[in-house]
Amino acid sequence: MRCGAVERGLGRTAVGSLLAQRNRAADLVVQSYSGADSCVMAKSTRIALLSVAVAVISVLGFVAPSQAAPPGRIDPRPSTAELARKLDELQRRSHGAIEVSAIGKSNQGRPVWSARVGDGPLRVLYVTQQHGDEPLGTVAALEFLREAGVGQSRYQRWLRSQVTVDIVVRANPDGHELNWRYNYAPDAAPEYGEAGKGYDINRYHDPAVAPENNPATEAGLIQRHYAEFQPQIVVDYHMQGRYVDGGGREITASLMWPTNRGVTPSNLELAKQVSVVAQRSMTEGGANVSQYPGGDYQGIARNAYGLRGSVLIELSDMGSQHEQAQIDSALRSMSAIARSAADGSLRMINPAEADAIPPRGEPVPQAAAAGTHSD
Ligand SMILES: [Zn+2]
Repeated sequence: MRCGAVERGLGRTAVGSLLAQRNRAADLVVQSYSGADSCVMAKSTRIALLSVAVAVISVLGFVAPSQAAPPGRIDPRPSTAELARKLDELQRRSHGAIEVSAIGKSNQGRPVWSARVGDGPLRVLYVTQQHGDEPLGTVAALEFLREAGVGQSRYQRWLRSQVTVDIVVRANPDGHELNWRYNYAPDAAPEYGEAGKGYDINRYHDPAVAPENNPATEAGLIQRHYAEFQPQIVVDYHMQGRYVDGGGREITASLMWPTNRGVTPSNLELAKQVSVVAQRSMTEGGANVSQYPGGDYQGIARNAYGLRGSVLIELSDMGSQHEQAQIDSALRSMSAIARSAADGSLRMINPAEADAIPPRGEPVPQAAAAGTHSD
């Protein structure tokens, strides 16, 4: 990709576990995402929640099978058991700065983890991997936790005193293990999702639906967690297909703020400011960022949690050789959003700069046949 080698700081993950991922990696074949676009139905109901939701969607796909990451590189797809081990290790190494807890269990009984770092007054919520086959935000989150929570540097202590960053790390563990988009609910006939598989979690955040009535279990967990944490900013990390911009250069990530009509102007402004911070930070790492043409439906997290402003960021699925750079790109956005919220620079940004982010262009020809993700 043209986002020249941004692997700075990526060599810290222990690689001892990587060999264990060989078999898992072999299961990761090219997916068909057909039907995804049909999920983006525009339903304009009033949104009742308040927050800044930033959705980061990254498209990672076309994984080369049977290749463990070489030493010094981050395992892009830790198993859910391995993820739990890594979170526990981060918690221990942070000496109290990182708190890991389960916000509930998936339909197959796997814990859905929240990891929280800092205790400052500004509350930021990141959500990763609502779609099980969009994994890279999850490992970027682990790197962010390490960067912000393990250590006692002056910057780290300052950051933690200003912000509380909570991350729902791998919202859809069943979908990850099954390597599909949906949760696990094979007997359901979901309005959004796929019969025989499960629900599309990112269509079930509608604030009009109470968590206890939410048919998509993991979405209900996030709704409850959101209500308890009451973040000012929410960023949702996903992955999309491959696209070019108007000049033919490949898009490495796309982002979008809430587009539901229930979002107030001031909250939309904050969402656009978050979008600009994300775009700038990723661009500094070599990314080529566009707007994301997402839907208005209020069940999408970007909209549902977006009354104070929300942003969606999608990383493009550029193949296995670009995964480390894409992880770093997502990490850059996580770090920059937290830092800019902490030092106040976020609110100094002209939100109109977000409107100047170019639209996403056409699919890369060889990738078009594989279909597209959405939100
Ligand atoms: Zn997604």
